[in-house]
Amino acid sequence: MSPETLISQPNLETNPSVFDPAEFDAAVMTTYGRFPLALERGQGCRVWDTEGRAYLDFVAGIATCTLGHAHPAMVKAVTEQIQKLHHVSNLYYIPEQGALAQWLVAHSCADRVFFCNSGAEANEGAIKLARKYAHTVLHIDDPVILTAHASFHGRTLATITATGQPKYQKNFAPLVPGFAYVPFNDIEAIKTAIAELDGGEKRRVAAILLEPLQGEGGVRPGDVSYFQAVRQICDDLGILLILDEVQVGMGRSGKLWGYENLGIEPDIFTSAKGLGGGIPIGATLCKSSCNIFQPGDHASTYGGNPFACGVALTVCQTLEQENLLVNAAQRGEQLRQGLQAIATQYPNLIAEVRGWGLINGLELSAETEMTSIEIVKVAMAAGLLLVPAGPKVVRFVPPLIVTASEVDEALATLGKAIAQLSA
Ligand SMILES: *Cc1c(COP(=O)(O)O)cnc(C)c1O
Repeated sequence: MSPETLISQPNLETNPSVFDPAEFDAAVMTTYGRFPLALERGQGCRVWDTEGRAYLDFVAGIATCTLGHAHPAMVKAVTEQIQKLHHVSNLYYIPEQGALAQWLVAHSCADRVFFCNSGAEANEGAIKLARKYAHTVLHIDDPVILTAHASFHGRTLATITATGQPKYQKNFAPLVPGFAYVPFNDIEAIKTAIAELDGGEKRRVAAILLEPLQGEGGVRPGDVSYFQAVRQICDDLGILLILDEVQVGMGRSGKLWGYENLGIEPDIFTSAKGLGGGIPIGATLCKSSCNIFQPGDHASTYGGNPFACGVALTVCQTLEQENLLVNAAQRGEQLRQGLQAIATQYPNLIAEVRGWGLINGLELSAETEMTSIEIVKVAMAAGLLLVPAGPKVVRFVPPLIVTASEVDEALATLGKAIAQLSA
């Protein structure tokens, strides 16, 4: 198949606008290596670029647009809330914040919620809460939080330190003290680290922070037996289990929370990406046993404002009304079967297909020189948006509203893209 036939045809219904990437790059910091594509419109699981070309969106703003684009329920919620009240600060009671917290508490193992604006900020809140717990409940002077290799927890100083990937830390020293790292899904490594770091009341492990499924690190699901053993260790020692649900939570795994796939409950967990369906919001959630923040301990000016909370509550209610957990589980199964069929066709190219619900990864084999970014680029030219999760894994995180025919379409486009690349 020639590259020309793979280029999707312009959609004539759109009204293309002029966009100049050079002008953009002259004004915006170069923190991102961007694809040469400017998106300006979306509907459902499809987005259109400034030249009017349509793309099937299996990125969803990186696992964020739970309800896709321009969902009527979100349009209504955004419009009504901005007309009513959008921001007032936490000096006052905010009914929408309370309603969203009540929904989250009713639908999770948590008893209390703190709202902020992003995943990194939610994890900062979790880290501060765990440290306060360490100082005031466990009486540890110099608490250590264990995190996993290949994890991802955000881009603030504390969260790049928590992130067990040196590439995110390079050139940003001095990092935040109080973190140590272990291989993921390796219970012996946790036991060893806890023993090695045991300095009695002076310095010891106070918490373990893990993703139920590592997203950025390559779509690696946690093992049930591992997480159950981690939970047991935390219970035995009285230390905290913190789960980063920023990417896998809010229904993406086919269950509302990633931990439901593991048969355990965390003491603290965080949410962000899917929570607002694309409107910025983050949350740190905890059980009443570690609900120890006092007035003045933590804050966020925007955190929990009427706008973000009103919209996020609509996202949560729509998840329920449209039965999207079931859709995520079923469409995920369909997607994995299709990816597996492609993998079987290219045994020298593809090593593994893995994931939960609608967070899935296709891992290229170590022998091939092909990289995830090459597949992403060819798929993009063919009208399918995908995102790498590291150099060897292609990630599939469509909106949770994705239909069976859209999954088939994505599989067909991907199949052609791989055929073209391997030709
Ligand atoms: C994206 C992500 C974060 C960071 O979220 P931001 O909103 O970008 O700060 C943290 N943890 C996980 C697991 C993520 O996937």
